[in-house]
Amino acid sequence: MEGLASTPGAPASGIRRPNRTVEARPTPRPVQTHRDRDRFVGFAFAAADLLIETDHDGTILFCAGARCRLTRGDVATLVGRNLADLVASTDRKYLRVLLDRVIEKTRIKPARVVFEGVDDQRFPALLGGCRLDSCPGSLFLTVLLASGPHGPHAASPGSGAGQLLDHHGFLSILEDRIVRAREKGLEHGLTLLLVEGMQAMVDSLPEGAAAEVRQGIDAYLRGISADGESAGQLSADRFGVIHASDVDCQEVQKHIAAIIEDAGGELPGGIRTWELELDETPLDAADAARALVYTVQAFASAQGGEFTISSLEDGARRMMSDAVERIGQLRATIEKRDFVVVFQPIVALATETVHHLEALTRVDGMSSPIDFITFAEDVGLIYDFDLLLTQSVLDTLKAFHKEPKLPDVAINLSAKTLMSPLFLKQFQAVTEPYGALSRKLLIEVTETVVVTDIARLNDVLQKLRSSGFRICLDDVGSGSTSFQSLYGLQVDFAKIDGSFVRGAAGSQRDMAMLRSMVDVCQQLGLALIGEQVEEPEHARLLTDLGVGYAQGYLYGHPSRDFGYFARDWSRMAGKGGKVLKKG
Ligand code: C2E
Ligand code: CA
Ligand code: CA
Repeated sequence: MEGLASTPGAPASGIRRPNRTVEARPTPRPVQTHRDRDRFVGFAFAAADLLIETDHDGTILFCAGARCRLTRGDVATLVGRNLADLVASTDRKYLRVLLDRVIEKTRIKPARVVFEGVDDQRFPALLGGCRLDSCPGSLFLTVLLASGPHGPHAASPGSGAGQLLDHHGFLSILEDRIVRAREKGLEHGLTLLLVEGMQAMVDSLPEGAAAEVRQGIDAYLRGISADGESAGQLSADRFGVIHASDVDCQEVQKHIAAIIEDAGGELPGGIRTWELELDETPLDAADAARALVYTVQAFASAQGGEFTISSLEDGARRMMSDAVERIGQLRATIEKRDFVVVFQPIVALATETVHHLEALTRVDGMSSPIDFITFAEDVGLIYDFDLLLTQSVLDTLKAFHKEPKLPDVAINLSAKTLMSPLFLKQFQAVTEPYGALSRKLLIEVTETVVVTDIARLNDVLQKLRSSGFRICLDDVGSGSTSFQSLYGLQVDFAKIDGSFVRGAAGSQRDMAMLRSMVDVCQQLGLALIGEQVEEPEHARLLTDLGVGYAQGYLYGHPSRDFGYFARDWSRMAGKGGKVLKKG
């Protein structure tokens, strides 16, 4: 084994703390002792690249391992240096928290730490450690340098050196970590932390002290978090930490208060924490995690309201039980297929004939499915629902396939569904049994979620197009469908948000907006559909702008009677373009 380093006169067994006068070469010792030590070292190397013994201050007393980027020479030359000097400056406080936790808890699981090599390059590694009662004053640390897709180089979202995950990063790991922890039987806890008045307090401090507070909290929360990378800052004064079960809320509050106090800060409000219990929910692990994500999302975005300093526990508990109940209902609606599909015609303005239909969901007791759909998106159940709806529409098309004028049907698929890694495969599995009939489907992309990766969404859309599905970008002009999507997504149709169409009839300003939007879409070569056409005036206005298609109560309300459209839709042009059947 290369690079074993110890000092003369070290005690007879184990990796013992040598004295400080360092010599890089191991000195001969009785054979048995050597073998004992090497055996221990061998076991430890099974899990690490580098073994380091430090004192409580972090000064390296012993170092063994393969040559690495931390030194130009043998790793033994690191003896006498402080471990903190090998770590990126942004991670030094964090390292201190980890060492303190080894001292306090006797053992820490490997956590991600960013080191700085002699070449000034930073690289992450996993640092684990323990202390032994028989060797007071020593900390035994392991460093795993290995890289690769599963190694510590595989950075999690948002985790730069010395940084907590941001709101999105935290939510994206939360579900995964909680489900995985439950599967593995690990007792992970989630603590939500509210430091009221944090922003104002930090702003009032001198720059150095403000940095102390920020970095101190950052380092402490990462230090107690699972793997050292499961802590996030959700808003200016809100944090979330996934941690092992040996961390308790009181301890977290005390530590944060001490960090603030040490920097000379004062909190006008207080610090509150809430630790979440998952086990009591009647949901399965995945759905319980969804309820949790929903609750944390609400905690992150709440400005006062449900989650104030005095009501954090109550607010969060209520939010969680509400989410659990609603998810249970949503599951039942999906599993029992407790929804119906209604159809609304989209009409070609030039001929006033039905061009295709849009399928819209109706859930019992709700006039509009919008709350249902939004909640399904928020808790990650929209995927199951969208695929089920696709199948339901295909079944309807199949039931009427002998009709001479079977209309095309647009279905709404959430961008979240389209971006899901399994989507293309499962969509193909759903549509394939229907053969050519499935190409009667148009896909409306309802971008009600922030699409951070337009290019990836476009990739999915182009694969669908090359398999013969036409795509329509929904709600263009509303806040939810951005200009980036309009430019970044190659689609066949753009549907102009209804509020624009109705607004343009009454306001010059809205009219100017509508005109420029239509202009952009036309230049991009898109066929245009105007929504919420309720009055003949709306239809005229769209025709004048050169919009090809329209949808709205003027032509027909959504209706369950698909047969009506399948049999008669070519005749619907009469009577001023109005579809006589109402939903
Ligand atoms: P959307 O895709 O923009 O659907 C058009 C909405 O406008 C429908 O509301 C429709 O009933 C309504 N509408 C149609 N004509 C008029 C009109 O002349 N005036 C006015 N004021 N409204 C009109 P609905 O059915 O309440 O659906 C709301 C939203 O829920 C939909 O907006 C869509 O985003 C979503 N949605 C509905 N069904 C589904 C579905 O099966 N899957 C998914 N992912 N989303 C769906
Ligand atoms: Ca739509
Ligand atoms: Ca729309």
